[in-house]
Amino acid sequence: MNGEYARERRLMTDSQIRARGVRSPLVLAAMNKVPRHLFVPEGLRSQAYADEPMPIGDGQTISQPYIVAYMTEALGLVGGEKVLEIGTGSGYQTAILAEMAAEIWTVEIVEKLALRARDILDGLGYGNIRYRIGDGSAGWPEAAPFEAVIVTAAAPRLPEALEDQLAVGGRMIVPVGTDLQELVLVRRGNKGVARKRLLAVRFVPLVKAS
Ligand code: SAH
Repeated sequence: MNGEYARERRLMTDSQIRARGVRSPLVLAAMNKVPRHLFVPEGLRSQAYADEPMPIGDGQTISQPYIVAYMTEALGLVGGEKVLEIGTGSGYQTAILAEMAAEIWTVEIVEKLALRARDILDGLGYGNIRYRIGDGSAGWPEAAPFEAVIVTAAAPRLPEALEDQLAVGGRMIVPVGTDLQELVLVRRGNKGVARKRLLAVRFVPLVKAS
């Protein structure tokens, strides 16, 4: 079984990710290592390595593998970073980050998803992840600053609270927009932030705490 998934994973990494231009050896190694089939609902395991997003319950989705790789590469991780993730979801993106950086601080608003993700990530032995259940829109101010911030649900406007939690030299990747969304890369330098639009995307919206 595992051998079969390993073959599918290699094929995914080569044909969906490397072939589309992702070059970071760290990203490619993580994508080739993390068992994505464990993060999708059991009934969908046979399609876990397909070139598409997938439902994970509660109206949420696990992102397409290429988008996970693309967003991760944009963070420019080299190892050793403290990373904030908003939208734990299945925990798959969290695992990719945990392979590459020192500490991952992840926030999820749907308790059921957060608990499920934590179970899987604990089971895989990731000990460098901190979990919080709640609204991630305000980030995790007590733990700031972060060298990298990744938001995996669409923000209606650029989230300035999260920009403020970026370390100097840090990067944030976030889908911005409602119907039409694009990935925005924010870099904090000594003199403030630079923002760059990268790619049109489609994410579920960030929800507000009720
Ligand atoms: N990175 C995830 C993708 C999850 S989809 C994965 O690889 O599976 C986006 C996630 O963001 C959903 O799980 C959703 O519940 C969560 N989310 C939405 N609004 C949020 C908010 N305000 N704070 C924290 N998490 C939020």
